[in-house]
Amino acid sequence: EVALQVPDKAVESVCPYCGVGCQLTYHVKDNRILYVEGRDGPANHERLCVKGRYGFDYAHHPHRLTRPLIRRADAPKRGDAVMDPDRVMEVFREATWDEALDLVGERLRTIRDTHGKRALAGFGSAKGSNEEAYLFQKLVRTGFGSNNVDHCTRLCHASSVAALLEGIGSGAVSNPVMDVGKAEVVIVIGANPTVNHPVAASWIKNAVKNGTKLIVADPRRSDLARLAHRFLQFKPDTDVAMLNAMMHVIVHEGLVDEDFIAGRTIGYDELRRNVEGYSPESMAPICGIDADTLREVARLYATSKGSMILWGMGVSQHVHGTDNARCLIALALMTGQIGRPGTGLHPLRGQNNVQGASDAGLIPMMYPDYQRVDNAAARQKFEQLWGMPLDPQPGLTVVEVMHAIRAGTVRGMYIMGENPAMSDPDANHAREALAALDHLVVQDIFLTETAYLADVILPASAFPEKTGTFTNTDRLVQMGRQALDPPGDARQDLWIIQQIAARMGLDWHYRDVSEVFDEMRHSMPSIGGITWERLQAEHAVTYPCLAEGDAGDPVVFTTTFPTETGRARFVPADIIPANERPDGEYPRVLITGRQLEHWHTGSMTRRASVLDAIEPDPVALVHPLDLEEIGVRPGDVITLESRRGEVSLYARAEEGTPRGAVFVPFCYYEAAINKLTNAALDPFGKIPEFKYCAVRIRAGGTE
Ligand code: SF4
Repeated sequence: EVALQVPDKAVESVCPYCGVGCQLTYHVKDNRILYVEGRDGPANHERLCVKGRYGFDYAHHPHRLTRPLIRRADAPKRGDAVMDPDRVMEVFREATWDEALDLVGERLRTIRDTHGKRALAGFGSAKGSNEEAYLFQKLVRTGFGSNNVDHCTRLCHASSVAALLEGIGSGAVSNPVMDVGKAEVVIVIGANPTVNHPVAASWIKNAVKNGTKLIVADPRRSDLARLAHRFLQFKPDTDVAMLNAMMHVIVHEGLVDEDFIAGRTIGYDELRRNVEGYSPESMAPICGIDADTLREVARLYATSKGSMILWGMGVSQHVHGTDNARCLIALALMTGQIGRPGTGLHPLRGQNNVQGASDAGLIPMMYPDYQRVDNAAARQKFEQLWGMPLDPQPGLTVVEVMHAIRAGTVRGMYIMGENPAMSDPDANHAREALAALDHLVVQDIFLTETAYLADVILPASAFPEKTGTFTNTDRLVQMGRQALDPPGDARQDLWIIQQIAARMGLDWHYRDVSEVFDEMRHSMPSIGGITWERLQAEHAVTYPCLAEGDAGDPVVFTTTFPTETGRARFVPADIIPANERPDGEYPRVLITGRQLEHWHTGSMTRRASVLDAIEPDPVALVHPLDLEEIGVRPGDVITLESRRGEVSLYARAEEGTPRGAVFVPFCYYEAAINKLTNAALDPFGKIPEFKYCAVRIRAGGTE
């Protein structure tokens, strides 16, 4: 039927899912997307994965929120309440925009004026545009009056960013994904790009075909491992042991780049002394990789003309996530494998705009462009720009906000496009915290698990219903364009933020999204040279782009690092065990992550008909021998339990999952695996340990 229809317009935009940032074209008829095609963007050259190609009809789903909703007075909030989409109107009633917004403004103002400015907090979204992220953090900092603003970057690469800022002065990638084609050796560690960054994975596969040696290091054997020159299936939680052993080899065999170390770094002697105690022989039993393989991989990486490291959340989501990233940075620095095409460090960013949202200041310790809130000069600059005094104290991070709610110090929240009831660790605790708020306003396109705990729900616009800029994992600022009108009374997110700002006493007058972008770029040196007009004409511009007309630099740190001294810094790391180790009671390790077909908490992809048809049910991936040990067959229902909760779901046999571990995607509301995960934090990045906690498995479901 679709094939017979002729689109009445084609709109050029970008994919709403992962950080690869594929450019695409929506083909639209009668305000419905008929189909999507890949465009010749810098990151995808017409390629799209299954999500980009088929994951768009969520925008037309009958579950879309189309009217503001206010919780009924006789519908108390309970963290353990089970949502029934057919009985929503028993809990909420429809309202006009004025009624809903006035109620939000009155409640948030009352909390601020009664309990102080830090009693309010806001979570923005890595799915929103740069302009939405910028205005959201500006609203929290000026209208709420504190730095209690964060988003899901805290849950994905906060530790990587902490290590990168500390070590090389910038949290973004040094080289684009496409540089794998110029590298002789590529290490992919703690990442499963075939599933999570599929088009990026396709470039890696092409590079291998052309002779690049691929090293895959991961406790789970991914699809990419089939193409690897060497696959290091190290034991979960032993990254530092393995990486320090590689550095030990590089030091002992004289494979370091002495000129690079002398001319461009500080702290090498301390690092050298530290890795002395990490010989491959002593680390092999700890990490599970034999000493000869550790030696071979270290030599390959150090001696190639160009070696590149890409990593994902297998590295970052640990209590030692920052230490893991410190080791990767040290590897690159000691061998001089950075600052040239085909080298460098690339933390694969998760959501389509997690890079841009972080750049725009949607984090509690930094203003836009990573200018620290506790730096007097930076604060003065933004006080001048925004016309009011600002809180000098860094705000609370995602998990810290939940603790603060339970302690009674945070009492009101504004959540735009995030779903912490599903995505936060120890989700039962997070849901109880959200239910305990005096006032919660949620802005979203669906009645998410978080929205179900709200006092007021504001119906927002889906990705194809708005125009804005989005920054991909390669530092490419790209233009997303509106293809559809929002349904019913749903509104543009920028409009909603401004309406709340007005009710918090702010006097803003943005007539168009381009005016927000313009203000933003004048406060952010890294994108200062990118104009709206140029983005409209070219669709994508790489930063740093300091002055109008600059080409933008895909490869950075070629001669200097953006640190105070211009030099990068080695930071040694030692082994710190996971916060919760398996024991007799909970003998297995739970690893969480994503699936190819589903995205994050599933609110969009589970409402995309093709994607949901491919993967409709919650599954746990377990080694077949472990399934035998537990006494179940693939397809049987099993129950996973941790000290924090339990969920029942289907068992799937997967030989790539290590013995003693279980991998579960976190996108299924009916088996919300984050009820089991541990909220222990990395002390630097404040990222929770999603990649390791103790569980047990039993056959059968819950009663
Ligand atoms: Fe979208 Fe990422 Fe797939 Fe590209 S690789 S189509 S950006 S989900």
